[in-house]
Amino acid sequence: MGDCKNIKKNIAICNCTYAGCPRHGVCCECLAYHRPAAQLPACYFDAKGERTYDRSFENYLKNVK
Ligand code: SF4
Repeated sequence: MGDCKNIKKNIAICNCTYAGCPRHGVCCECLAYHRPAAQLPACYFDAKGERTYDRSFENYLKNVK
């Protein structure tokens, strides 16, 4: 995961507050992790929605209403 050429740029704009996740700044890995679970990455959520750590599609729809 340390091979991503965009990791510094991505981390600078990443809003994920889930500490300790090894996928911070590696957006392809983040998507690959969440997609099979019918989830979206933190960056789809506003600050309040992100803090729930519920990345489900259902929570996303609640968050954007
Ligand atoms: S959204 Fe999920 S996979 Fe992506 S950095 Fe945050 S905790 Fe990790």
